[in-house]
Amino acid sequence: MMEETTTMSETEKLDPKSAYDEVFTALHEHQSWFSNSIPLIASENVPSPAVREAILSDFGNRYAEGWAGERVYAGCVYIDKVELLCMRLARQLFRAEFADVRPVSGVCANLAVYSAFTDPGDTILALAIPNGGHISSGRKEFNGTAGLVHGLEVEYFAFDKDTWNIDVEKTKEKVRKLKSEGKKVKLAMFGGSLFLFPHPIKELADFLKSEGIFVCYDSAHVSGLIAGKQFQQPLAEGAEAMTLSTHKTLFGPQGGTVLSWNKYADKIKAGAFPGTASNHHLHHVAGKAVAFAEFLQHGEEYAKDVISNAQALGQALSDEGLDILASELGYTKSHQIAIDVTKYGDGGTLEKELERANIIVNRQLIPGDIKAGRHYMHPGGLRIGTSEVTRLGMKGDRMKEIASLMARIIVKKEDPESVKHDVEQMRSSYQKVYYAFESSTPAYKYVNVR
Ligand SMILES: *Cc1c(COP(=O)(O)O)cnc(C)c1O
Repeated sequence: MMEETTTMSETEKLDPKSAYDEVFTALHEHQSWFSNSIPLIASENVPSPAVREAILSDFGNRYAEGWAGERVYAGCVYIDKVELLCMRLARQLFRAEFADVRPVSGVCANLAVYSAFTDPGDTILALAIPNGGHISSGRKEFNGTAGLVHGLEVEYFAFDKDTWNIDVEKTKEKVRKLKSEGKKVKLAMFGGSLFLFPHPIKELADFLKSEGIFVCYDSAHVSGLIAGKQFQQPLAEGAEAMTLSTHKTLFGPQGGTVLSWNKYADKIKAGAFPGTASNHHLHHVAGKAVAFAEFLQHGEEYAKDVISNAQALGQALSDEGLDILASELGYTKSHQIAIDVTKYGDGGTLEKELERANIIVNRQLIPGDIKAGRHYMHPGGLRIGTSEVTRLGMKGDRMKEIASLMARIIVKKEDPESVKHDVEQMRSSYQKVYYAFESSTPAYKYVNVR
């Protein structure tokens, strides 16, 4: 006799068709909400209808392990064609000798590089999280990818809070000190998640290489600004590899990529496959190819507009009385600005209030938070990015309007419901995706193929 082994209570059981319907209802509601919101999350963007179409293709149901032309599976004739195009476009866009477009995300791209150039137990150099570092280069004690998954020890770049940047001389001292203690650094990972100003690769690359340290640059956030030639050019400045996400300032599908020189190609290829992926989300490879082509055509203009919007928004928020980090340095040279909201509350609470008014931002740990006893759920800052509103065609005085809508919540403590009405009003005329070859489907229109 079969024994009843289920541990689920009757009340927890779902009716399949109602649950199925509920999923689609939530998807519809999400898209309608976003079409009425001001999306300001610095790591997000909206892809073109062309990228969305590529993602819906049958590529997403196939396997193509290995390198294009040398696959482990049959059925890859067109997949290989697209992946080879995608790699060529990536090399052209970033002026690199080598591109591996298989990593399925920025974290996987970083892991591929760690696997290629370090061994567990080695030490790497990265930015501390309150100074803008990302968890993928984090210590094991914080469940950071570098420490937890690849067993790396993580030491931090010396950081200068006055210039919002890596301190070159103190970093050199730190590397020498670590060496004298028998801790040889194997890899330095530049780049970060709160990333306002270009990092001093040129100033540090020769020194690091002379110490036998592999120089990598994590451009997850700023890859679109680099591709658009409006930010530093890490590979030309001395980086030996560059990892990225394809969906932040680079407006493609979610994914990752590694760029480098031919002499490192074999190691990186092994790190990407079989090191950190089996199937590599082929529909997203097609989406990346489409986005790279769009970026080659429109990226320069887009990156310029994103950065001037970020600077204008920083100025406008400052005019509304808010404290913007790095104000003495012109707020930013990237797509981001960061606000110190400690005068008005905490980042966690304000994030929720803004969300109720359809203004989507995220809370941010800022320097000084840990010392003041503030933690990730209720930090002292908010991080704002202009990549997505720029893609929707907003420019010029729209930044002043956004600042005013935000200040009504943060400074004037107005009821979010009344602000929400004005947010919807303002958004109604921005429904199209710009900087694309074709754009007939509105940005957040739900596409029904059932
Ligand atoms: C977002 C981010 C990543 C992770 O990218 P995913 O594509 O989300 O995996 C890696 N590094 C930095 C600095 C980031 O900001």
